[in-house]
Amino acid sequence: HIYLDNAATTPMAPEVIQTMTDQMQHDFGNASSTHWFGREAHTVMDKSRKILADSIHAQPSEMVITSGATESNNTAITQTAHARAALGKHIITTAIEHPSVLQPLKALEKEGFRVTYLPVDENGRIRLADFDAALDDDTILVTIIMGNNEVGSRMPITEIGERLVDHQAWFHTDATQAYGLLDIDVKAQHIDMLSVSAHKINGPKGIGFLYRDPKVQFPSLLKGGEQELKRRAGTENIAGIAGFAKAVELITSEEKAKRQTKYLGFKKQIMNALDDADIPYAINGDIRPDNVNHVFNLWLKGISTYALQTNLDLAGVAVSGGSACTAGSLEPSHVLTAMFGADSPRLGESIRISFGAQTTQEDIQAFIDTLLPIVQRLAAKQAAQ
Ligand code: PMP
Repeated sequence: HIYLDNAATTPMAPEVIQTMTDQMQHDFGNASSTHWFGREAHTVMDKSRKILADSIHAQPSEMVITSGATESNNTAITQTAHARAALGKHIITTAIEHPSVLQPLKALEKEGFRVTYLPVDENGRIRLADFDAALDDDTILVTIIMGNNEVGSRMPITEIGERLVDHQAWFHTDATQAYGLLDIDVKAQHIDMLSVSAHKINGPKGIGFLYRDPKVQFPSLLKGGEQELKRRAGTENIAGIAGFAKAVELITSEEKAKRQTKYLGFKKQIMNALDDADIPYAINGDIRPDNVNHVFNLWLKGISTYALQTNLDLAGVAVSGGSACTAGSLEPSHVLTAMFGADSPRLGESIRISFGAQTTQEDIQAFIDTLLPIVQRLAAKQAAQ
């Protein structure tokens, strides 16, 4: 089997599994307990928190450990909007956010908040002029994805951060797909809140963080104990936190750059093979070194997503027919719709291929060797109809 759905989730790194196993065997204490077992667990948490904070140039006290990016996004949006409702009711986002951003915003709209969904161009990018036009005195929150999970487009986070320096709006970014590939400096980029999930970077599922600038105050989404400086109630997942920190330690700045180059090479390898085989295709998005390059969204003209994905699966190759979060439904991708319109044939004829740290050039060659005959067969069948 060849796994090319790393934007959905990644396999855990062996070092992460080892760290977590050790943790579960030796440090089972509750970090809130004052006895030795509790203190041991707390020490593991403190060390891990420092590693996570350092990775985005933040302070350990600014990190809220959560159950993943869904919880981080829900907290950053719902809790801060409620806390700031007296200052304004306007929120700015994009049309191509993850459902864990869009759904809390939909709920806020029902409560009377006003949300601007910035449109994107055919490469999946917003225009700063649209952002400038949308920002007003009523804006209390801006939430913009750093790198998109379906097409890999990167958003102008630094530019938006700069624009908000003297504005009341707090700036949140969902960095779930970008974190393992781009260097992030929350202070230099003027980011007030940032969501990350461990399972996208060869860490465990069910753990993530929400960075928050000291000025950002909000009550915990979950009501209960006083963990995470009262910002996230519930007994801490020590093994998960330790595994998350181990996964982060494995991704140095050099490693990120190496992966970006490697993934760009994989895209070229696939495009060359399609060109050589005269298969008509287009990229949904564009090829740019500064995108989040592990995501590759391909339109194979005239070939149904469903037929292609099913045939690839039968042949042992895992890709996505959209994002994992919406692929289960028959709804067309809201990201491709925002880029190309609801009538575009791309909506039903595209697949998302996504690479991971463990993906090799041989995997890509095996993928190509599987893909080409399937596409040719489906195209012939189509022509015969
Ligand atoms: N945001 C983005 C951009 C994502 O790709 C995902 C994962 N599909 C999430 C948020 C949700 O992350 P989690 O699975 O940790 O809840």
